[in-house]
Amino acid sequence: MTSLDAFATAKLDALAAQSLRRDLVHTARAAGTVVERGGRRYLSFSCNDYLNLSHHPAVLAAAREALDRYGIGSGASRLVTGNHPLYGALEERLARLKGAEAACVFGSGYLTNTGVIPALAGRGDLIVVDEWAHACIMAGSRMSGAAVHVFRHNDVAHADELLTTHRAAHRHALLLTDGVFSMDGDLAPLPALGRLARAHDAWLMADDAHGIGVLGGGRGSSYAFDEPADVPLQMGTLSKAIGAYGGYLCASRPVVELMKSRARTLVYSTGLPPPVVAAAIAALDLIAADPGLAEAPIAKARLFTRRVGLPDPQSPIVPVLVGEAEAALAASRMLAEEGYLVVAIRPPTVPAGTARLRLTFTPAHPDQDVERLADLVRERVVGNVS
Ligand SMILES: *Cc1c(COP(=O)(O)O)cnc(C)c1O
Repeated sequence: MTSLDAFATAKLDALAAQSLRRDLVHTARAAGTVVERGGRRYLSFSCNDYLNLSHHPAVLAAAREALDRYGIGSGASRLVTGNHPLYGALEERLARLKGAEAACVFGSGYLTNTGVIPALAGRGDLIVVDEWAHACIMAGSRMSGAAVHVFRHNDVAHADELLTTHRAAHRHALLLTDGVFSMDGDLAPLPALGRLARAHDAWLMADDAHGIGVLGGGRGSSYAFDEPADVPLQMGTLSKAIGAYGGYLCASRPVVELMKSRARTLVYSTGLPPPVVAAAIAALDLIAADPGLAEAPIAKARLFTRRVGLPDPQSPIVPVLVGEAEAALAASRMLAEEGYLVVAIRPPTVPAGTARLRLTFTPAHPDQDVERLADLVRERVVGNVS
């Protein structure tokens, strides 16, 4: 065996020994919430397509039209010839929805965070970030070269302490958090973080990957509170509730203009396929036309949590903590036997000892299945956790 293959094999064996090896499973998604895996159909509670827009007829029609008109690939970076006319329409809608001056669309949410953060902070700057922030916020923070300090999850006083201690020694400061935490479904205290950031002249960025389309009447987590939170950097993805693909930053015009020169993941990566951008535009139009649509996923999640006896959900994401990775996998297998796809989430995605089932809800989930799943989880998962 070559040293390269020996390296890979040993790594894989070590992961497998801890129940942490990951494998890709072919999964065919149909409209609604049905998926097919290994020749079997399941009702999925593991998709982030919160509004079922990835198969909505109007969204598909827009994508087909763009395909015929502009082709499948954009051909180059947006800075070269990849900036097809649909980008302008998408950015205009995003800025309007988010109440921002401007918007900038990237290749994905991951590319947005790893482009925006290093464009705004570098050596000599300070980043203060929630410990549960998404992996790509952490990646962008490390890539930036700024000094990174991590505050305890949703602990505004701890963030204040870190800013008080470190702010003066640094030129600029970024305060970073998820708006909705992807593995727990809880919200960041954005109004308080907005005030904190102002007080320390720090720039608050909230990652709204799981907020756009489903919170604040569809406008996202900054609008999920009694008054809009002061979040000058609202980023998010077009790949979850929007049902398509891509990422965005909504911000002031100068900040958005700066991205076009300085965000390396925008400058050095090919523009999105035109049909994907057209799909996102159509999805945003559906969300803007019906603010009630945004409420539906949380209503389904609430039906589930009340029946299991869990706290009311703050978003369409409901974690059911199990503990050890192996137990989470066993719970997931049990539910699969009952016809429900509920993927187990294990370390390092979540802290050791907090492996869980992570459920997501959409308007297309039939009530009777939500109730049956809740009964299974209550009797055979929650009941077994000591
Ligand atoms: C999914 C996710 C991302 C990444 O977005 P993609 O468009 O899938 O790359 C970023 N941040 C959070 C919080 C996410 O959940």
